[in-house]
Amino acid sequence: MRMLDEKLYDIYDEVLRRNPGETEFHQAVHEVLDSLGPVIAKHPQYADAAIIQRLCEPERQIIFRVPWVDDRGAVRINRGFRVEFNSALGPYKGGLRFHASVYLGIVKFLGFEQIFKNALTGMPLGGAKGGSDFDPKGRSDGEVMRFCQSFMTELYRHLGEHTDIPAGDIGVGQREIGYLFGQYKRITNRYESGVLTGKGITWGGAQVRTEATGYGLVFFVDTMLSARGDSFEGKRVVISGSGNVALHAAEKVHQLGGTVVACSDSTGYVVEEKGIDVELLKAVKQQHRGRIADYVAARGADAHLCLEGSIWEVPCDIALPCATQNELNGSDAAALIRNRCRIVAEGANMPTTPSAVKLLTEAGVLFAPGKAANAGGVATSALEMQQNASRDSWTFEHTEARLAEIMRSIHDRCLATADEYGAPGSYVTGANIAGFTHVADAMLALGLV
Ligand code: NDP
Repeated sequence: MRMLDEKLYDIYDEVLRRNPGETEFHQAVHEVLDSLGPVIAKHPQYADAAIIQRLCEPERQIIFRVPWVDDRGAVRINRGFRVEFNSALGPYKGGLRFHASVYLGIVKFLGFEQIFKNALTGMPLGGAKGGSDFDPKGRSDGEVMRFCQSFMTELYRHLGEHTDIPAGDIGVGQREIGYLFGQYKRITNRYESGVLTGKGITWGGAQVRTEATGYGLVFFVDTMLSARGDSFEGKRVVISGSGNVALHAAEKVHQLGGTVVACSDSTGYVVEEKGIDVELLKAVKQQHRGRIADYVAARGADAHLCLEGSIWEVPCDIALPCATQNELNGSDAAALIRNRCRIVAEGANMPTTPSAVKLLTEAGVLFAPGKAANAGGVATSALEMQQNASRDSWTFEHTEARLAEIMRSIHDRCLATADEYGAPGSYVTGANIAGFTHVADAMLALGLV
């Protein structure tokens, strides 16, 4: 990792000391602090009020037992988390992740990132994240429902449309949100639509929320391209993952004239020179909860399954990591540079390791960090909350146009802030500083709380 500005080094040291073993959280904090030297120099009031130290300490951390019974009648125990990180701008907001790798350090890295991402959207949203080490893969609908009901039986007391509003993330899609919402409704005896986002259209959900993170990512990249007089037309695109974010990013790339030549899951990746059949992949993944290998089997000779090596070795103009944290490392970055990739934009949260970011930026590859590029999901969640509050529902076209406008404005804000702080063209510096100053000013205004 790079050396931090001297004043920030002590703060980072304290974060390491107070949060031992939480490596992903350390990485996320370091990445933000790395941009803040010029801000502290220009605005000493932030240091005087210990704004950064306060931002690094969650307002509340909830850890709880989640007991449930599997289909064979055996008792299972998982661990649930909700980290309510910062509520200076609005109620806590951020997704739930169900994956075997989830522990406090992952939830804290995601919650920390979420503070700045939510600030960048310009919506009145605080930052939070939660989840469990429960893995829904291979579980029956009944098992997933019993788990979600048990999870919500504890978590409900901390939620509310003006308090804390979860949504989906890895392993939590519309099925899980449905079971969670059903249990919340039953316990509280309230149809409080605004308490969760990512709901189904017929029970309080919003058009475009399912597609929003992937579509928003592609709108962001489209703005990067058009700022340089270019477009997606004829571009080769590689997308990692094949979940919610990846599938909808792929769909929008094809709509804008690009070709997605590879995508993946945790078992391997598929390469298809003529372009992935996104409709078929969606059907395999979403309707049948299948794997990449099932897609390749259904597709036939045109698709090539790779069980070894890295997806980032597939030559492309644009790389969109949309699976998970630290999935694109230094040697992957070197392969992308060798193959003349021009843009890397993060659909996932922190998928690019610090050494990969350094290599890419030094080689002149345009790099868009997740807290800016994947903010379309939470921005559309805020639109869902608006519709819930006003008992209204907007059309797909209207909502998609709002999403596109929000992504353009985040893009422009990143570049304007990077200019202001002497780092022209750096989306990382722009996103970190614009997100930070927005929250920091609200924290100053609200006093020491
Ligand atoms: P999904 O669960 O829908 O899909 C996740 C995809 O990533 C799957 O294809 C999964 O493969 C793959 N994946 C997960 N873990 C690993 C791993 N360790 N190694 C390789 N592949 C892996 O999740 P989402 O699409 O919702 O989320 C993807 C990323 O986007 C996450 O980083 C999330 O935090 C971020 N994000 C999501 C938002 C949303 O609105 N959903 C909003 C903003 C960011 P497999 O099935 O084999 O595990």
